[in-house]
Amino acid sequence: MWIDELLQSINYKDYYPQGKNTGSNQIITNCKFHEDTHASLSINLNTGVYFCHACSASGNFVTWCKYFNIDLKELAEKQGISITKEKHDKIISKEQVKEMHQALLDNKAWVTALDDNRGINLQTIKRFNLGIYKNRLSIPIYNLDNQVVNIRLYASKGVNARLKMISWGSGYGSARLFPIENIYSEEIMICEGEMDACWQIKWVTVQLPAQPEQILLKRNGVIFLRTRKLILFMILMQEVRQVPKK
Ligand SMILES: [Zn+2]
Repeated sequence: MWIDELLQSINYKDYYPQGKNTGSNQIITNCKFHEDTHASLSINLNTGVYFCHACSASGNFVTWCKYFNIDLKELAEKQGISITKEKHDKIISKEQVKEMHQALLDNKAWVTALDDNRGINLQTIKRFNLGIYKNRLSIPIYNLDNQVVNIRLYASKGVNARLKMISWGSGYGSARLFPIENIYSEEIMICEGEMDACWQIKWVTVQLPAQPEQILLKRNGVIFLRTRKLILFMILMQEVRQVPKK
């Protein structure tokens, strides 16, 4: 993958702000994600992973570039890395994502309920461009080219468990890692679904849709994940089934 090659070839020092050295290639500097006067942003210059001790902004070099509109492909070209064509995806317009996102931002009741019931706060809603579509929470799924290739639609109650999470339409539901940019982190936490992967915690999360072995063995997943430390996160539940009386 060209992006793996890019991340191995660049010096993070050239792209991250200067800061005070705190040891083992770790710096601390003023945070760019909030108005910071106390140098709250820690950056690991070996891995490119950053974390703000004040506003909890966190991510890696890919999320950084996405946030500050740095074109990774341009960087790769500058480094002389050839960008191979990837499989063609069906694309959903970003305008639609924007409209759904605005609908959620305008709906204070939903914003409050998401925070209270799921721990998904406003920062998370903005980070993932979450929205509302037909009374479901919409979660746009991006590919490595930052195109929207699916919108997962979540309904919390009132629906059949099998239909709790549905895809945008036919041809959009193939197995995807979410959020895709997190695959470049050293530590990856694998969890059950997009809703869990949305949690804003220091760990990064990659959602593996149903049949994780499919993505791990048959797709590029094995290339992405084999060099990473994986943490498996699962909620174990005892399913209570009623045995029908004969
Ligand atoms: Zn901050």
